[in-house]
Amino acid sequence: ASGRGHFRFHRAADDQDGERLRSRLQLDHAMRQALPRGEFRLHYQPQVDIADGRLLGAEALIRWTDAQLGEVSPARFIPVAEESGFIVAIGDWVLRQALAQAARWYGDGADLVVSVNVSPLQFQQPGFVEGVAQVLAQAGLPGERLELELTESLLVRDAEETLQRLQALAALGVRLAIDDFGTGYSSLGYLKRFPISRLKIDRSFIKGLPGDPSDAGIVQAIVQLGRALRLEVIAEGVETDAQRAFLHGLGAQQYQGFLCAPALEVEAFNARVGLPAGAAAQWPAVRRVR
Ligand code: C2E
Ligand code: MG
Ligand code: MG
Ligand code: MG
Repeated sequence: ASGRGHFRFHRAADDQDGERLRSRLQLDHAMRQALPRGEFRLHYQPQVDIADGRLLGAEALIRWTDAQLGEVSPARFIPVAEESGFIVAIGDWVLRQALAQAARWYGDGADLVVSVNVSPLQFQQPGFVEGVAQVLAQAGLPGERLELELTESLLVRDAEETLQRLQALAALGVRLAIDDFGTGYSSLGYLKRFPISRLKIDRSFIKGLPGDPSDAGIVQAIVQLGRALRLEVIAEGVETDAQRAFLHGLGAQQYQGFLCAPALEVEAFNARVGLPAGAAAQWPAVRRVR
C-alpha cells in the first residue's frame, strides 16, 4: 500500500497473538511426531528425608529434545499438550515408562516410591483408574510403590466423580499427593474428604526462605495444616541448606531440590544414590515412606 521499496514492521497485539498461536500449533505438531519417534525421556529427581538425606522416592519428570527446537522445557510444552488434548497420550507413555523403571528398582531391592505427574485431563479420561491398575499389574509392581501427583484445580472440580476415582486408586494402594500446593484454590475442604497422603509445597514459597516473612508464614501454615490432617509434607525446589534447615525446624518431613540433586537420567540417578547398575539386592537400607 505504501508503494514499491517500502516495508513496515507491525507489532500490533493481533500479530503477537497470531504468532503465539502459530508457535503453539507448531509445538503441538512437533510433539505428536516426537512420541512415536521416541524423542521423549524420563528423568528422576530424588526425594529425601529432610533430617538425614535418606532416599525415599523419585519424581519422574519428562524431557524432550527436538531436532529443530532443541531441548524444550515441560513448563512450555505440557500446557500446550493440555490444551490440545495430546497430554492424554503423553501421560499414558509417562505412566508406562515410570512404572517399568519402578519395577526395575523394585526388582533390584530398592525401597523407592516413584511419583508421576498426572494432568487433570488425563485423570478425567474414562477408564483412567482401570488403566493404572492394568499398568501396575503388567509391571508387577505393588500399588504402594506409585504416587500420583495431582493439582489442586483437579480436586476442587466435580467432587463426586473425583472422590470415587481417588478412593479407587487408594484401594489399589496408590499414594496421592497434591502438587504445587498453595498456588491453586483456597478451598481446603477437599483435604478432609479425599484420601490424600502428601502435600508438596510449591517451589515459589521455598525461594524466599528463610528470610522472607510472607514465604515463611505460608510454609509454616502448610506444615501445620499437614500435621493436623496427618499428611506428609514435602518441599520442592530446595536449593540451599539454610532452606532445608528452616523447613526441618518447621516440621516438614521430606524435600526434593537441587541441594540434593536435579532430575537425572537413570544411570546418573543410580550412581548418585549408590545403586550399582543392574546389581540386585545391593541397595543401601532405606526407609519406606508411610
Ligand atoms: P512440578 O511437577 O512441580 O516439578 C517440579 C519442577 O521443579 C521440575 O521442573 C523440576 O526440575 C524443578 N525443580 C526441582 N528442584 C528444583 C530446584 O531446586 N530449583 C529449581 N529452580 N527447580 C527445581 P520441570 O522438570 O521443568 O517440570 C516442570 C513442570 O512440568 C512440572 O512441575 C510438571 O508440572 C510438568 N511436568 C513435568 N513432567 C511431567 C509429566 O510427565 N506429566 C505431566 N502431566 N506434567 C509434567
Ligand atoms: Mg510434580
Ligand atoms: Mg511440584
Ligand atoms: Mg511446581
